[in-house]
Amino acid sequence: MTGRSRQPLLAGIAAVAFAWQGLCPPAGAAESESDLGRRFAFEAGAEIPLVRDPVVVGYVERIGGRIVAGLGAQPFDYHFFVIRDARVNAFAVPGGYVYVHSGLLALVANDDELAGVLGHEIAHVHAHHLLRQQEATKWLNYAQLIGLLASFVQPAVGAAAMGASATVQLKYKREYEQEADYLGARYVQAAGFAPRGMLDFFQKLASQERYGPGAAPPYLLTHPLTEERLTRLEAVLHTSQWEASPRRQVSSELRRVRLAAQLQGGTLDALDHYQKQVALFPNDAESRYALGAVLLESGSYAAALETLEQARSLGAPGVDREIGRAYLRLRQPDKARELLARAVEIAPADAVAQFEYGRVLEELGDSEGARSAYERAVAAYADLADAQWQLGLLDGRAGRAGEGYCHLGKAYLLRGEYPQALRQFEKAEAQLPAGEQKTEVKDLLARLREARASRSR
Ligand code: ZN
Repeated sequence: MTGRSRQPLLAGIAAVAFAWQGLCPPAGAAESESDLGRRFAFEAGAEIPLVRDPVVVGYVERIGGRIVAGLGAQPFDYHFFVIRDARVNAFAVPGGYVYVHSGLLALVANDDELAGVLGHEIAHVHAHHLLRQQEATKWLNYAQLIGLLASFVQPAVGAAAMGASATVQLKYKREYEQEADYLGARYVQAAGFAPRGMLDFFQKLASQERYGPGAAPPYLLTHPLTEERLTRLEAVLHTSQWEASPRRQVSSELRRVRLAAQLQGGTLDALDHYQKQVALFPNDAESRYALGAVLLESGSYAAALETLEQARSLGAPGVDREIGRAYLRLRQPDKARELLARAVEIAPADAVAQFEYGRVLEELGDSEGARSAYERAVAAYADLADAQWQLGLLDGRAGRAGEGYCHLGKAYLLRGEYPQALRQFEKAEAQLPAGEQKTEVKDLLARLREARASRSR
């Protein structure tokens, strides 16, 4: 994979429009932006690895959702995604589609800093910066644009499709950056976050850039962070009397989000990090919990169990679920059932707890109980691919072929395996009786075929 081909997806839109200027009439209506964003998000799902962890995604959605709620009625809904990528980046696609990298979540120090980044991206979308930036040029029609975007996000093709001259024009204009800072700071203040967090985070990024050109986070490529911009943002905070807002501590929620985001990149670094943390702060319940979770993820189940028990006695919340998972993997399903039953009783909307509870019931031969637990898991978080997969297998075994293919199709879709998803949905369509589920399958098939068509263009 080359460096250039991994550039932010937003870059693709801007660059494509620059490269193909003058071909088609401009498009600026809200429904067009929304349609572009929707199609882009669907097709990008096959090209970029998305984090499907309810802890991580839920956190970003909650903070982003609070900011959007303060904007009042909007022409389109906002959607937030987390990309599994250790580099620091965030970008927005017209129509309300906002993406952050898991590496950015590892770097934010508190909710306010993430709110600052999201507020800035929401401001770009809300102010239609990308479209306004292209006003001098002309947009492609959407089929062409989406097709080029899809080829852009597919690394090998993307590198070839993008000329070097186009990649230098990916960044937002300076005045749009300043406008997004100003509007973003207002939005986050209105949503009850400290706008100071935005400046804190940008200063942190600017200091990283000073380590050398190779160390610059990709975020700085699309959102150039000049000394002038930082000074202006500081002035905005000062004149609005926002700069004095106290810096918040890292919440225990953010610590778990960071842990989950970190685990997306593997367990080796995390293991080293949390072992050191536990050695430094032996009585810190969250560090102990994190070490237990990392051990569990890396397959050291007995060590995980011991560490998680210690975390529980130090007072870490929500440890039953992890201890239950450890017992399940240590092949002690009775103990696992006891703990996971308690976990789902305390937190019925915890999709992962419901999923693990389903696994243990299945292990104990209770297929119907397992099925109910998986259904509660996907009701709480529909994007849990493993739960969709297990439901598909259970339905298939129980003779409910249509439903089974539908769940398997969704599992493939969530994993970005679109050709396999298409095959499962085709089988589901053939088996399902007319009704709501069949309509949903037909809709997904239409979108998959549309994505395939623009890919082959
Ligand atoms: Zn920006």
